[in-house]
Amino acid sequence: MSLRNKIDIVGKTHKVKWAEPNPGTDTLGTYNYALQTITLEKGMPEDLAQSTMLHEILEGLDAILKLHLPHPTLDRLEAGLYSVLKGAGIDLKKLLEVKG
Ligand SMILES: [Zn+2]
Repeated sequence: MSLRNKIDIVGKTHKVKWAEPNPGTDTLGTYNYALQTITLEKGMPEDLAQSTMLHEILEGLDAILKLHLPHPTLDRLEAGLYSVLKGAGIDLKKLLEVKG
């Protein structure tokens, strides 16, 4: 398995970049609509990396679909979706890793 380097969000291919941890910030992930990139910090614990990716995907959906959701709503959707998907046994590792 290797770290994913792209993901499609409603038909738009986004680059996934893995950044070195930055001790100066508590930002674990960012979404950039203009560049169509998701940047995630390397070396996060697995569960945190999965929920952070889910969050950045929600940021992408919010931007592409012009939902204009307040950020705290994205945080709550992240937590809610994460718990439902995990509880249903969905392997969220696939959001982060691809075969090969
Ligand atoms: Zn966010």
